[in-house]
Amino acid sequence: MANLTTIGVKPAPQETQSCWSCGTMRAVQFCDSCGKVQPPRPVDYFTFFGLPRKLNLDVSALDKDFYALSRKLHPDLNSRSGSEEQEWSLQQTSLLNDAHRTLKDPIKRTQYLLKLEGVELEEQSKSATEQARSSGQAKKQIVPPDLLEEVFELNMQLEELRAHKKLGEDDPALIEEIGRQKLELEEKNEALLEELRHHWKTWDALIDRDQNAEPVGDDERKKALNKMVDLLNRRNYIRNLVRDVSEVLEN
Ligand SMILES: [Zn+2]
Repeated sequence: MANLTTIGVKPAPQETQSCWSCGTMRAVQFCDSCGKVQPPRPVDYFTFFGLPRKLNLDVSALDKDFYALSRKLHPDLNSRSGSEEQEWSLQQTSLLNDAHRTLKDPIKRTQYLLKLEGVELEEQSKSATEQARSSGQAKKQIVPPDLLEEVFELNMQLEELRAHKKLGEDDPALIEEIGRQKLELEEKNEALLEELRHHWKTWDALIDRDQNAEPVGDDERKKALNKMVDLLNRRNYIRNLVRDVSEVLEN
């Protein structure tokens, strides 16, 4: 399927095109007037759900919309219509699933918004990471400054544990200590999620201002975005570290 998301284009939720069947104005998925399913339009996920590009989102309302749309778009329901309509239901359903999966998850939603705003995360590319892993090289990541000491210490302990394991020695105290640090890192990531919610508020306030015709400067916009990028990079770093620790502990 073609890539239906537009990147770097301002949202246009009010934008309507005419229905292929009856010619009146239509909504994103269906014609407002005759209700026929429409060919997918290249819109971003927020626009797909008729939402502004804000990060604080009512997930239960999103779920409700998702289920309602799923039922209405179900290809079986449209199977007696023309094959084109059935194809469009399939495409719209696939878009719906992607949009829902992305927007309901706080991290994915934030990453998606950053991408829409033209920001690439340090570790956006999964394939690059996998490639690095399969070639046996750790993908180089910058250690967040506030974690330097902790990470250094933890890496030393991991080295020690690996060495013990190689010799077939058991070291319950070291394992316990490493497990404790792993827990701390996981707690840190939870705390970062809270911090992220705080940055969402800042971002959403900018969007509100923009919609109230109070222009938001590029600098202000960038500042808000960069704070989220920093945070997600830190979070990714910690997540990878936790994964490394788990690997050593389990092997
Ligand atoms: Zn129509």
